[in-house]
Amino acid sequence: MLKMRRARARFDALRRYIVDYASCRHMRNTANDLKTLAMSDKVNTLPFFYGNITREEAESFLKQGGNSDGLYLLRQSRSYLGGYALSVSYGRLYYHYTIERELSNTFAIAGGKSHRNPMDVIDYHSQESDGLICLLKKPLNRPKGMEPKVGPYEDLKEQLIRQYVKQKWNLQGAGLEQAIISQWPQLEKLIATTAHEKMAWYHGNITRDDCEPRLLMQPHSNGRFLIRQRDTNGSYALCLLHSGHVMHYRIDKDKTGKLSIPDGKKFDTLLQLVEHYSYKPDGLLGVLIEPCPRPEGQDPPPVPLHHPSQWQSSTSGIISRLKSYTFPKPGSKKDIPLRKTEITSCGFPKAKASSGTFIRGASKTESMPMDTEVYESPYADPDELRQTHVDRNHLILEDGELGSGNFGTVLKGIYKMTKTQKQVAVKILKNDDSNTAVRDEMLREAKVMQQLDNPYIVRMIGICEAESLMLVMELAELGPLHKFLHKNKHICMKNITELVHQVSMGMKYLEDNNFVHRDLAARNVLLVTQHYAKISDFGLSKAITEENNYYQAKGHGKWPVKWYAPECMNFFKFSCKSDVWSFGVLMWEAFTYGQKPYKGMKGNEVIQMIERGERMDAPPNCPPEIYELMKTCWTYKPQERPSFAVVEPRLRDYYYDISR
Ligand code: AMP
Repeated sequence: MLKMRRARARFDALRRYIVDYASCRHMRNTANDLKTLAMSDKVNTLPFFYGNITREEAESFLKQGGNSDGLYLLRQSRSYLGGYALSVSYGRLYYHYTIERELSNTFAIAGGKSHRNPMDVIDYHSQESDGLICLLKKPLNRPKGMEPKVGPYEDLKEQLIRQYVKQKWNLQGAGLEQAIISQWPQLEKLIATTAHEKMAWYHGNITRDDCEPRLLMQPHSNGRFLIRQRDTNGSYALCLLHSGHVMHYRIDKDKTGKLSIPDGKKFDTLLQLVEHYSYKPDGLLGVLIEPCPRPEGQDPPPVPLHHPSQWQSSTSGIISRLKSYTFPKPGSKKDIPLRKTEITSCGFPKAKASSGTFIRGASKTESMPMDTEVYESPYADPDELRQTHVDRNHLILEDGELGSGNFGTVLKGIYKMTKTQKQVAVKILKNDDSNTAVRDEMLREAKVMQQLDNPYIVRMIGICEAESLMLVMELAELGPLHKFLHKNKHICMKNITELVHQVSMGMKYLEDNNFVHRDLAARNVLLVTQHYAKISDFGLSKAITEENNYYQAKGHGKWPVKWYAPECMNFFKFSCKSDVWSFGVLMWEAFTYGQKPYKGMKGNEVIQMIERGERMDAPPNCPPEIYELMKTCWTYKPQERPSFAVVEPRLRDYYYDISR
């Protein structure tokens, strides 16, 4: 009993250490720190996590570790996407349990209790055997100097995702990086289930008769294999050359989407199946050794990859690189087309699929920002040259208001270009002689907007001076974030995290390019789709210099006090750090589904509350990680408050973690 309590205390201490270590490293936010957080669920940091090792390798480690009853290690599942396997030693035998990742992102040993993460599963089974052969008594740590093994799929995934995003959405440079960062969990899922199409051994829809001559080409080589598609319902055949004969093993998909040879082990992807049978026959006549290449010219072209046995393990997967990705600072702006005050040319992308596009192969289809026509920069197509000035004859205004403000109204419209036409939002100044100040404000806003080019910021298309002054912008049809969430309370936390992460990406772009927004709030985040947010309303924005990294207002204005940091109110000083404060309030608005912050309080009451060191309570059901981040954004002193360079990767990590 005492021993168990000690083991439990040790385990708890270890967990606390891992959690503390992970969160303080988050704060320090250097590329290396983030790299070690590469795998999700923080499992990668566990000393008894071995990564992508086989069952046999696990048994060999347990044997070397002394084989005591209840000795265990954790490894990555090679058949369940996002799952783990627990290998336990008992009575000189070995037992392996799959820890499945469930749909709700919880973890459980099949048929067992659900837990928040794999660590909790282990924690539980060190107290209760509950079906396991014995209690988990002692973790077997990795030998000194050994890192968790990274599966061949990690690097392959990076290549395929890049290739996919580049080709499907015709993206490159910063747009490509941002697409990958913001949609990584979705892309990962998508690629995992379609990656086989790119493999040399996948021959697509060919018949049994067509496949045999391919495998029988001279010299005959035992273990040469290919996979062909049998039908479009997820049935395939694994064809293997053995002793001069071609064996055809049927692969079927069950109701849950798992693939298996009849009575064989089940896999989420064909890649996992091939990886498994490459190291052990497990019922086949032999292991898979040599992928049979597709005949030349047969689409899709294979990526130049080797047989799994030759795949290189590497710790530099895309997750680590993405987590540490930072955008170029001014001075190295060639990768980010920050537009100068004078626009000389611009164009528009070819018409793309609508925002509701479904993606082939994705298990749960969800439109991505890149599926909309407003992801790629309208300035990307050099054939669509134009001036900042929009010709009124090319602009059709539609009935129906998108919104309004003290300047006038915003209408939906269509802008006709040389090659194509684009749906736009048009901010129309109301015709009134007395509103020169509003006119100036609108022109100032246009001047700021025309310098910005980022997928998570509403881009300006141009200005049209006709019956009224009109500001033509990209359309974000679903409107302001707070209203959308207020009307759609079914939206899940993951979706909200995705959206606020996108806002942080847009804000990081502003920070990198020395702009302060000064009116960041949920009302100024517009939605293109339920999964795509853009920052808007640059009426109060200012460019700042790198040396003097704040804007000093001359006096108090009509300010959104509840979103403003103490230094804005006390010293009229605005910086990217004060935008971070506002971002904290925006997060609070989003996670309360659009509630008003500091409800019922007057501006000066809010100021006093902040000065007393009090902050808003956590929104109901708000994940603790998110509330912690909000409170960090509300750090009193701007010099101690994190920048968006810290906030964005922190949100990203959290988003990836809950998405996997
Ligand atoms: P603003 O003064 O820029 O905040 O615009 C007022 C309202 O017009 C917003 O709250 C939106 O409902 C709508 N609106 C502004 N810009 C756009 C846009 N680009 N796309 C769709 N709706 C917009």
